[in-house]
Amino acid sequence: MAAAVVPTTFKNFINGEWLDSHSGCTFENRNPADTSELLGIFPRSDAGDVHAAVESARAAYNTWRLVPAPKRAEILFRAAEILVRRKEDLARTMTTEMGKVLAETRGDVQEAIDMTYYMAGEGRRLFGQTTPSELPSKMAMSVRQPLGACALITPWNFPMAIPAWKMMPALVAGNTVVLKPAEDTPISATLLFEILTEAGIPPGVINLVHGMGPEAGAPLVAGDGVAAVSFTGSTETGRAVSLACARDFKPCHLEMGGKNAMIVMADANLDLALDGAVWGAFGTTGQRCTATSRILVQKHIYDDFRDRLAERAKALRVGNGLEASTEVGPLINEAQLQKVMEYVQIGRNEGAKIASGGSRLQKAAFANGWFHEPTIFADCAPGMRIAREEIFGPVVALIPFGALDEALEIANGVVYGLSASIYTRDVNQALRAARDLQTGIVYVNAPTIGAETHLPFGGTKQTGNGHREAGSAALDFYTEWKTIYMDYSDRLQRAQIDT
Ligand code: ADP
Repeated sequence: MAAAVVPTTFKNFINGEWLDSHSGCTFENRNPADTSELLGIFPRSDAGDVHAAVESARAAYNTWRLVPAPKRAEILFRAAEILVRRKEDLARTMTTEMGKVLAETRGDVQEAIDMTYYMAGEGRRLFGQTTPSELPSKMAMSVRQPLGACALITPWNFPMAIPAWKMMPALVAGNTVVLKPAEDTPISATLLFEILTEAGIPPGVINLVHGMGPEAGAPLVAGDGVAAVSFTGSTETGRAVSLACARDFKPCHLEMGGKNAMIVMADANLDLALDGAVWGAFGTTGQRCTATSRILVQKHIYDDFRDRLAERAKALRVGNGLEASTEVGPLINEAQLQKVMEYVQIGRNEGAKIASGGSRLQKAAFANGWFHEPTIFADCAPGMRIAREEIFGPVVALIPFGALDEALEIANGVVYGLSASIYTRDVNQALRAARDLQTGIVYVNAPTIGAETHLPFGGTKQTGNGHREAGSAALDFYTEWKTIYMDYSDRLQRAQIDT
């Protein structure tokens, strides 16, 4: 009889030590493409574990904040080099726990690499302003100060990129962190911690607490001594996080839902727009906050575009992301699959027409996974729920429109404001759209996905709360300004009075 495979048992990382949850409770992590594959067993942490992690981060902050930023950055630089070296094995592991295809998990690791190198570079910048004083023999400058122990809560769709997007700017600026990664993708976060540790990060500077949102995430947000919270996830949870932070005046960065529109004008390069639509709507199985979930098509080309897009969607190969031929992987978990199926039913009830897909895939190779057909709803009205609410799956709503003004009104007519795009060869239309789309990100002749790490990332309205991730904008969240005046006149000088 073959010996049963013993799944790896993973641990929390607190004050430089790998620890079980103090209660001994655990949870499982399974492959969404084949749920018979148990990938690991993780500590199911609670407020006690969170408290220990926060105390560890607070204690380490006292010394980490005093390490010169270029020295902190050297550790990040070494971590980036390890990420480069291990990219392929990290990507393969990520595909087994998250489901997206290998090309995309490689991209996810690459995002972590890019962010880590970028923030390593910031170690020798972290610029403030030095400016003349209005008084003689007096200097005036402003410097970025770290905040303290930061709580980071991340989702499962970018298992390594999003933790890196939050950790690297926090760390280079002199903060310490406690990360609560998504319960569906705890391995990728663990690997990132192993890599930072190998790169030489001191004990206590980074702390990892696995577990469920309400049991581990909520006490982390509420934790005494947590200086700031950065959260990426659903709008519903983001609201709870925001309210908890408000009580203690904790700075809070929220990155939440989207209902991103692509506008296709009649003069667009249609082949290009179709490529963009397929990639934007069905890449990552539609599970990106920037996924293209509405495609607004000008009436003259609508029928042609719909038919060609449906053909392309039907031809997509759904399957296990580790297989080279697969183009669309599974949904992350059963709840997400159920949500997609419910929205497909809602769309049908609302009278939208299915142009392709519409069903769960369950036969043979799909039997043990959370697979759903890439699905297109045609002839949607902008007010339908499938055209307004975030589905987070391989479902896209096609909406016909007349003129650009109407398209802009439809695109802006949702509660979210993350990303939008327009396909046109008319520069005036492109620039009007770039000006008038009420989103944090606008693409011209590209789909709604594809953010680069050195530019600000984030959304308007109910997508965010005004902060931005990535680029130097990330440092604005993880630091606060201190203004320093140095008077070397040796006499009392009174600003605004001694004029
Ligand atoms: P998703 O729909 O992507 O799972 P969630 O907002 O539920 O979105 O989850 C995003 C992250 O927030 C996960 O790490 C999850 O465990 C965590 N989370 C869920 N509920 C809470 C909560 N009440 N407080 C803090 N974190 C939470």
